[in-house]
Amino acid sequence: MTATILEGKPIAEQIRAELSAQIDAMDRPPVLVALICGDDAGARSYARMQAKAAAQVGIEYDLRELPAEIADEALHEEIGKLNEDPLVDGIILQSPLPKGLDEPAAQAAIDPDKDVDGVHPLNLGLVAADREALAPCTAQSAVRLIEETGVELRGAEVVVVGRSVIVGKPAALMLLDRGATVTVCRSTTRDLAAHTSQAEVLVVAIGRAEMIRGEMIKPGAVVIDVGINYVPGEGGAKGHYVGDVAFDEAVEVAGTITPVPGGVGPLTVTMLLKNTVEAARRRRGTR
Ligand code: NDP
Repeated sequence: MTATILEGKPIAEQIRAELSAQIDAMDRPPVLVALICGDDAGARSYARMQAKAAAQVGIEYDLRELPAEIADEALHEEIGKLNEDPLVDGIILQSPLPKGLDEPAAQAAIDPDKDVDGVHPLNLGLVAADREALAPCTAQSAVRLIEETGVELRGAEVVVVGRSVIVGKPAALMLLDRGATVTVCRSTTRDLAAHTSQAEVLVVAIGRAEMIRGEMIKPGAVVIDVGINYVPGEGGAKGHYVGDVAFDEAVEVAGTITPVPGGVGPLTVTMLLKNTVEAARRRRGTR
């Protein structure tokens, strides 16, 4: 058996087209401000992707550079100014922050109504309370991909591996809200395979290259691979990215599987755009 490969790009394109239409109907484009502290290559690359995607749908994207040596108080002050600025609809703090900065405190300093990355504790709390929220973008992508397969989530056995605050935990809560029976595994889980092999839907967000092997997957399962792991090339060759799931094995067992790259990734940035449009509509009272 070979699994259906579920690409994120076509879904992302469909959502972006809907967002463009919504933005065209607005009196002015939504404004998303990204704050980047220092020069982390990953944060910069993500910011470039965001800028390109924002331009595509008509969101004004403004990248503000702050020094790596900035103190927590000064960073909060910058965030405070954006919170107060009536022209700013969304704020994203590029991660990771330089060492020494308190990331959760900075996230909590963002106005929850402008928190388009869905990282403020209030938004996470709303997700936990099954209320409408600016939910974390990656968790939204994982759930959207599952919904795309048409799998019945009510009563489904779902296993989420990873319980990070922005991926595993909110994804688990959102799937619970859709009627699934959700098990969350983590590094202290005694027998990971015993859980994963029961999952009709398996969401993997660990950050370890190809850790989930084919024999750990239930035949026919929907497998959503959130992981992005860089594998350096040998002998000076260019490296490449792999997921947390051993794709070549999993594709022989699963019913549907997302590729890495090309699965969750393209949708994540789209969910950031979606949250930005949502934040702008709420703030402007045009929902
Ligand atoms: P974190 O490092 O915050 O969390 C990793 C989770 O995996 C933790 O809950 C940890 O458990 C668990 N874990 C670690 N080792 C094991 C193990 N041996 N068995 C079971 N569970 C384990 O990572 P993130 O959630 O931020 O990211 C996960 C992956 O997703 C990364 O590869 C990241 O690059 C990728 N990612 C992809 C995005 C996209 O758009 N596609 C966006 C964001 C992230 P414990 O809590 O016990 O330590």
